[in-house]
Amino acid sequence: MTKTQVNDFDIDEIDRYHGNLSTPHIKEPVPRLITDILNSYTRNEINLQPDYQRQFVWNKTKQKQLIKSLYAGFPLPMFYFAESGNNSYEVVDGQQRLTTIFGFLNPKSINKHIRKKIISKIQLNHNGDQIKLNDLRQTIEKRNIYCVYLPETSVNLKYEIFRVLNQGATMLKPQEIRNCLFASEMPKFNKLLKTVANKLRKITGMTLDRMLGEELALRFFVINKYGYERDITDLSNNFNMLKKDFNEREIKRMKQKSELFFWILKKMFESDIDDCFQVLQKGVKSPKINKWGFYSFSKKINQSLFHLLSFYLPKYSKNQLNGKNFIGIKKGYLEILKNQRFVSVITGSGTNSKRNIKKSNQIFKKVFLEKYLGDWTDNQKRNITKSEKETIRQNVPYCYLCYGKFGKKMETGKIHAEHIEPYIAGKESELENILLAHPRCNAEKKDMSIDEYRVTPKSQKRRKTQKKNIMAYRQALKEWNKAYGLDIYSKLMKFAKSDINL
Ligand SMILES: [Zn+2]
Repeated sequence: MTKTQVNDFDIDEIDRYHGNLSTPHIKEPVPRLITDILNSYTRNEINLQPDYQRQFVWNKTKQKQLIKSLYAGFPLPMFYFAESGNNSYEVVDGQQRLTTIFGFLNPKSINKHIRKKIISKIQLNHNGDQIKLNDLRQTIEKRNIYCVYLPETSVNLKYEIFRVLNQGATMLKPQEIRNCLFASEMPKFNKLLKTVANKLRKITGMTLDRMLGEELALRFFVINKYGYERDITDLSNNFNMLKKDFNEREIKRMKQKSELFFWILKKMFESDIDDCFQVLQKGVKSPKINKWGFYSFSKKINQSLFHLLSFYLPKYSKNQLNGKNFIGIKKGYLEILKNQRFVSVITGSGTNSKRNIKKSNQIFKKVFLEKYLGDWTDNQKRNITKSEKETIRQNVPYCYLCYGKFGKKMETGKIHAEHIEPYIAGKESELENILLAHPRCNAEKKDMSIDEYRVTPKSQKRRKTQKKNIMAYRQALKEWNKAYGLDIYSKLMKFAKSDINL
């Protein structure tokens, strides 16, 4: 495995979040001795890295300059702390500076993952004489810094101050801003994002810092929940939707999905898993032998590959994949990385255009998935038993695609049952997420999404004909959802409601 430092990701985003600043009651700044602050920190009263803070990013030159200015007695800009109960504080602004100071004065007090980035020794001269390290430390300990303490009230205020202050020198990346929001508004989802981000760091061997890991994790969840249709970067429009949709049940489901995803990746790539989201290096002549180790990879995560794997792999179940030839699958994956047409739509500019996304999906499905992993829907149809269908039929006797009621003459065995959302391994016999459809409606839909199918003239015509059933269908769906849960319940209800006016 090769360790790579990846700080940038080829996604262009602009920060479109507009927060509202409430009127705060902030006390005047107070001077405090650095030694006192350090003592509070070693007593665990100061949280240097609350969830919304980014990691330590200062380079050694910057750290050295700070120590120098402290020694020279230059006043520093204010430090902001937020009270977080029990006489403890979160650092809202000043994380980089405090990490530098604490690290210099007491390296052991710093988290060991960050410790290697800090400077603990420094050579300074005063009138031609080198200053002893101990003297330097003692001088700095006696310096005052100015601290503003924010009351333990509004998370928004903390966040807002953090955002405003950070518009200075080192701008926050959008994911870092999202991170503050998730940490305060969706703590459980935030925890899952961090878990997945850390797994991604582990398998790729990349640092994925400045929240890039969390960014990828978020992309995984959004693409699995909404497909390719949503632009999650516009948080001001989508945050409330995410907050509503990623409820406790959904978080649990998504967690299972991510676990399945990592399970498949490990099976597929084994010890080469660190290359799994990379394209082949450009300009390097491909060897003739189809052996993974002979190829050079780009050393950078390719966004489209990440999306494709995130979206399609968790559609399969463990059962479906267990017997597969994973050596063959890995070879197949190498093949698609050599496919010129595929590479041209997933690299360079315009990879996010609708046309290119569609094209890359088509090729990925045809040249790789169907050929080497098989049809993920196979298993789903087989696993729904007749008695399960009966149960659903008794409760929701309507085709979810056209609202038509299944007549008495229609045999249950002929009705098509579909997992509306691909089910997750280990949950196969549950009725969760299954609905019934006419075989003809289902055949028309084929592998379109519901959204795609709904706009076809055929579907519109069918729904119009069966309009009279909508109210009863909605009622049945409501009851059914109470008992078994449907992940796209609100979507189906909304569709049905809008169809009343067809
Ligand atoms: Zn139908």
